[in-house]
Amino acid sequence: MRVIMLAPPGAGKGTQGERIAARYGVPHISSGDIFRDEVARQTPLGKELSGYLDRGDLVPNDLVLSLIKGRVVEAVQQAGGYVLDGFPRTLEQAEAAAGIGRETSTSAQAVVYLDAPEDVLIGRLTGRGEGRADDSAAVARHRLTVYAEHTQPLVDYFAARGILVKIDAAAPMDVVTQDIFAALDRVKRS
Ligand code: ADP
Repeated sequence: MRVIMLAPPGAGKGTQGERIAARYGVPHISSGDIFRDEVARQTPLGKELSGYLDRGDLVPNDLVLSLIKGRVVEAVQQAGGYVLDGFPRTLEQAEAAAGIGRETSTSAQAVVYLDAPEDVLIGRLTGRGEGRADDSAAVARHRLTVYAEHTQPLVDYFAARGILVKIDAAAPMDVVTQDIFAALDRVKRS
């Protein structure tokens, strides 16, 4: 299964992404996790990334692509698919991803779009137990603004390509998971 997750911050993309990966036996490739790991290990790249992450700004495309591309190709070779969580996040990245997909026959079969009203998202982000560094109210609001400007347009982009699966992410977490599995099982059978 080759799946892209598309969701605003706070919609549950990480949790659902892991569950999808486990169900279909493919790697969960989370750009945010990959970046946070570089920062935690204090690599030279991590030092470059930390400012963007702390502000909730987008990481420049060349950095994103250098960290993601190899993992996607490897996931397809080794496991026959992937769950891409957090990438692509801009139209430019979506075009780049489509190019890689064509070159390597690894294009996504479905885009899971987790949809939830903004007040639900803000509540979840600022109430998050684990207290991620970029979850302060001001940064969370900024991440939602960045999402609305740069990432929301991907909803129409993927809908036009006929691969968008829209899920109500305001529902309880396990209900969301069941809805996603039902939709992806249909894609898999088709
Ligand atoms: P969330 O979906 O909760 O906003 P992520 O873990 O997906 O969180 O991303 C955290 C941060 O990592 C983003 O705010 C951004 O700074 C950076 N980031 C992740 N993916 C990308 C990407 N594809 N392009 C640019 N920046 C990214």
